[in-house]
Amino acid sequence: MKRLNTVRIKDVTMPDFSITADGQGLTQGLIMCYLKCRREFMLRLNEWGKESKKITFANGSITHDSLDMIYTHYKSTGKPPSLLSIKAFINGYDTANPSWLGAGHKEEIPKIKAVAYVVVTEYMRYYRKDFETMEIIGAENVFDVIWKGYRLRGKKDLRFRIAGKKWLIETKTMARIDESEIEDKISFDFQSQFYTHAEEVEYKETVCGVIYNVVRNPGHKVGKDETLKAFTGRLRKAVRKDPAHFFKRWSIPYTDADKKEFKKELLYKLDEIKMLLQGKIHVYRNEKNCVTRFQCSFLRACASGKLVGYTKTNKLFCELEPVCLDDKIKTLKHPVKITWKTDNPLFKLTGGKHGKSCEIKYRIAGRKPKEKS
Ligand code: SF4
Repeated sequence: MKRLNTVRIKDVTMPDFSITADGQGLTQGLIMCYLKCRREFMLRLNEWGKESKKITFANGSITHDSLDMIYTHYKSTGKPPSLLSIKAFINGYDTANPSWLGAGHKEEIPKIKAVAYVVVTEYMRYYRKDFETMEIIGAENVFDVIWKGYRLRGKKDLRFRIAGKKWLIETKTMARIDESEIEDKISFDFQSQFYTHAEEVEYKETVCGVIYNVVRNPGHKVGKDETLKAFTGRLRKAVRKDPAHFFKRWSIPYTDADKKEFKKELLYKLDEIKMLLQGKIHVYRNEKNCVTRFQCSFLRACASGKLVGYTKTNKLFCELEPVCLDDKIKTLKHPVKITWKTDNPLFKLTGGKHGKSCEIKYRIAGRKPKEKS
């Protein structure tokens, strides 16, 4: 029988954690979490999190990761992946990412995968010029830089050049897009400026700004007597009829003055977090941020005072670490052939044998993989 976790929030203390050069460092997500609520920050540093992930995040992550895969493939081969590769990636997503969706949502998986396939393939159609002319210099690049004695970490979606000038692309999947709100917000978006800054620290080259690439998660539902095939056909028709409703881009150039202001404030934030970790300032609840557009995932815990329904398994920085290939392979249903390739992480599996990236082919229903690498 599953034992109920009855850890009390008041018994959780700040872990041994440092953000300076010799410590674990911080990502933009952790800094934003600190700014939102110090209690949430402390819980996250202790690796607490919800047992089952929300379905809205599941939709976004499969689409986002599929787009990452497409650009990574384009960067390494000079052409977009075939539709068969995209389908295989999406079909294998849950096996390759066991923590993607909680057990309670298993019946939703075929629909989520079908929606992701339509959105991703229609995205490629709409932005086909990306795969003809874009000079990509990096996709899915993990960074780890030291600035003013602090360790800054993260992963940039896409780095590219236009007319020799360097830009970044950040992709967001959203269910609701409020254009005027986004336009105002992105002019000083923390994540975009954090990545721009980290890029300049690492490469000592000016970054012009960020393309904010927004993909709408369709809210379409499968009809009562509708088959999945009919549903995907209907969805594809809707996306193709009005692609600009689903795919939007804003370009945000940053001036020297913007960058200067960001750096000044980033330092204030990092100094403050350091003081918190040293016990010089206190952890407290920020009640204003418990329920905003999204509900804080710790709301139940804060209301009850107990971490029932939460687990201490939400490893920090796991999205930045190379995945152990052998572990991943064990989770795949039908891995039959592994082709070792340098710089072609079709399935985003790095590390493992020789420290190289690789391509995994699936044998689906006993058939040989059709695609040749
Ligand atoms: S529920 Fe409110 S107080 Fe609790 S961690 Fe979240 S934001 Fe902080």
